[in-house]
Amino acid sequence: MDDIKLLLFLQEKYNKVEENNKILKDNSYIKILSKMKEDFNKLKKEYINGKSELENIRKKYKVLNEEIEELRKGVDEDEYILYNKCGNDLKMINTLQEEIESKNKKINEKEKEVMSMLEKEEKLSKEVSTAENILKKIKHEFNSYKGSVENKLHAAKEELKTYEKEMSSIRSKLPSDILEDFDYIKSQKKVAVALLQNGVCAGCKIKVSSLTIDELNKKSGIVHCDNCGRILWKED
Ligand SMILES: [Zn+2]
Repeated sequence: MDDIKLLLFLQEKYNKVEENNKILKDNSYIKILSKMKEDFNKLKKEYINGKSELENIRKKYKVLNEEIEELRKGVDEDEYILYNKCGNDLKMINTLQEEIESKNKKINEKEKEVMSMLEKEEKLSKEVSTAENILKKIKHEFNSYKGSVENKLHAAKEELKTYEKEMSSIRSKLPSDILEDFDYIKSQKKVAVALLQNGVCAGCKIKVSSLTIDELNKKSGIVHCDNCGRILWKED
């Protein structure tokens, strides 16, 4: 293979190494993951609070219902006495009637409370279940994002190893003076080999002289761009 082709391959490998190093150095995923975690923890706190509030409401609801039942039993008993045991005892009749009225009033109040509690319970229960679904979603997204980042980093590391091997194999096939030339230009310009297209160097975007083009067409050795000094390469 021509030296220039080898240099081109070598340059391509260096470009890929650079791309992979960029991927490996890119830490933006840490920020994204910690933001996801933050959102998750915030929502989880709300979810736990909502759940415990819901539990309290259900407990209170149960107590209220028991109290209502107790009051109703009391009313039934009072009414039984009122209709069966009072005879003509007006004082007793009055007391019982007042007692029944007061208990019914309490029952009414407690039933109202039960109603408002049921509304609250319904609303809160919806909120808690929505939060639960969002939490599941965030967790899933977190894990899948983390997995994809880990895969990407792993692949980049593995590719780097391959590139290193390929690069050293290419280098071993090149004469040392050409390698020195290549390494020097690369250290100055990052990209040492530039494609010549329609007489223009792709490295500096400037037209090269016809002399340089003639040299390149002869294919007799390494030719540099008149302007930027990069090693020129031309497609056959
Ligand atoms: Zn140039």
